[in-house]
Amino acid sequence: MPINVTPIPGLSDHINDIRLRTARIVNEKILPNEGVLWRGRRSGASEEERAESRALRRQVEEKVKSEGLWAPHLPPEYGGMGIDFMAHAYMNEILAYAVGAASLFGVVAPNSGNQTILVKYGTEEQKQKWLLPLVEGTMQSGFSMTEPEHAGSDPRSIQTTAVRDGDEWVINGHKWFTSNGLAADFFIVMCRAKDSKDDEGPGSMVQIIVPTSTPGVIIERGIGIWGVPVSDHCEVRYDHVRVPLDNALGRVGEGHRAAQDRLGAGRIFHCMNSVGQMWRAFDLMVERLLTREVHGGLLKDKQFMQGFVADSYMDLQAARLMTIHAAEKVDAGDPQARTEISAIKIFVPAAYTRVVDRAIQVWGAAGVTNDLPLAQMYLGARTLRLADGPDEVHRILIAKNVLHHYEKGESWDFAG
Ligand SMILES: Cc1cc2nc3c(=O)[nH]c(=O)nc-3n(C[C@H](O)[C@H](O)[C@H](O)COP(=O)(O)OP(=O)(O)OC[C@H]3O[C@@H](n4cnc5c(N)ncnc54)[C@H](O)[C@@H]3O)c2cc1C
Repeated sequence: MPINVTPIPGLSDHINDIRLRTARIVNEKILPNEGVLWRGRRSGASEEERAESRALRRQVEEKVKSEGLWAPHLPPEYGGMGIDFMAHAYMNEILAYAVGAASLFGVVAPNSGNQTILVKYGTEEQKQKWLLPLVEGTMQSGFSMTEPEHAGSDPRSIQTTAVRDGDEWVINGHKWFTSNGLAADFFIVMCRAKDSKDDEGPGSMVQIIVPTSTPGVIIERGIGIWGVPVSDHCEVRYDHVRVPLDNALGRVGEGHRAAQDRLGAGRIFHCMNSVGQMWRAFDLMVERLLTREVHGGLLKDKQFMQGFVADSYMDLQAARLMTIHAAEKVDAGDPQARTEISAIKIFVPAAYTRVVDRAIQVWGAAGVTNDLPLAQMYLGARTLRLADGPDEVHRILIAKNVLHHYEKGESWDFAG
């Protein structure tokens, strides 16, 4: 079933135009070809199937480029659309309707997040060396922050060090869940900068670009997740890794802010992706309800199933409106946006999990097969409750921000 996109009254013509043109490509070029587009990436795919998938993906990418819809997250000087924040958020909702479609529009995590950080913090030399090949697709990258021995939900606990030695950094540390680690040509590594090896201070946070071919970068394994023996989320050891001081991305001490820049706006885009996928799951659920006969009648006429429709409708609408509200606050530079971002980061993945769960239930055994995107969505939705800041951390942040207002003798303006 195609995504039903019509102009939203009150939105600019520019955003509506992007929404409609994105939907046209999703509906005409991607959804009818989903089987072929991704078949070549499945384990056991033949060389012929891989070649067919690759050729079709190239065709869609060319169409996306010719429509001027390539790389919504990048400015035009780096081959992107150069669109504003709200247009990007609305576009994400639509392209996420087809699982995996974002990559056909030039948005592939974690490369896209790294590209954004390189655009903002990179020197001209770093942009030439790392950003351009990333944009052209001749290089891959990863973001290496989380450590197995320390709580990822508390970034202050990071212990990887980068010690100045002459004109080099010497990096030592242990990371895991560095996504895209098997393919990456370089990592952006979050470290504590130290002036010398005798410096016993806490060190300031800094992000450093580390080519994966540097001696001492040891990819220990692609960690198996969700029952799959090897993933591209890697455990990486940095053992006396030497890179030039110039590989620091941004100033020493800016590391946390750069990570927040990456995550803050990113959370809006991820939530709009989730909303797009909930929309797809909802449509799939209804499609099945309208056609599947059980016990002498269509599923749509059973009240258990009607409950699924109503509950999923409410989950989807609430998630969508909350995300757009948060996006508008971010766009307006409202300091309360942090609270709204945390709220959607908790609410949307949970609502997404519920909607997909119901869609799987409606489809019965077919719901957990690879013939439908639901099983993949289900695992993705559950994982989102951990990645980009786990639920509890965001709950703590909401409570702290809201209570702070009341402690000051104010109250919360829910209409603001
Ligand atoms: C698929 C996947 C991809 C990832 N990709 C990357 C990547 O590319 N790069 C990268 O650096 N990291 C990546 N991560 C790591 C992710 O960012 C971390 O898993 C996340 O930050 C949580 O850290 P942790 O796993 O160490 O959990 P912990 O910090 O150990 O937290 C464990 C639990 O305790 C809860 N908790 C924390 N504080 C409190 C509290 N005060 N009260 C109550 N509960 C609390 C947390 O919410 C969480 O549920 C990825 C993770 C996954 C699953």
